[in-house]
Amino acid sequence: MLEYFLTQNAHCVEDSLSVNCARNVILQLSYPMALISASVQEALAKNKEKQALIKKYENDEKELRKILIKRIPIKKWKLEYYDKKYCERCSAQALYYGNDRLHFVEADAYAMNEEHYSLTTPKNYLENWTDLCPTCEKNTRPVKGTRWLSWSLETREEEDVTEAARLKEKLGL
Ligand SMILES: [Zn+2]
Repeated sequence: MLEYFLTQNAHCVEDSLSVNCARNVILQLSYPMALISASVQEALAKNKEKQALIKKYENDEKELRKILIKRIPIKKWKLEYYDKKYCERCSAQALYYGNDRLHFVEADAYAMNEEHYSLTTPKNYLENWTDLCPTCEKNTRPVKGTRWLSWSLETREEEDVTEAARLKEKLGL
């Protein structure tokens, strides 16, 4: 597709400047397009591999189930309550609006009730109120946090719908 655009004659465009401009845009796009193409190739290869496996285990329901189940990694958030001091000045704060707040609802039922959901990630924790933060030193701003959100990676199992449907159709189920 790229080659097609690059060899197009300029006759259909009046302003040759805009042709140059378009050419530059296309050249800039060639790297991301190559990346997309590579990942499509990879997905196709994986799909082919899976189809071969399905064919092999056509009559083995247990094996088929394993092949047709996708394991999807999910970030699981957990809310805990405990006191911990940290330096507020160098901590990072992220704000989540709208549907971005949905991630946290499972851990914190009130996540959607606030206009924005704010998540503070301290850089330096403090043992005592008088401790100096190694980053901010004399400008340390000690505060106490009481609610802490943390996450861990878990996997969820899900049926590979496309493959399952294809197989069911093939087996007349
Ligand atoms: Zn600090």
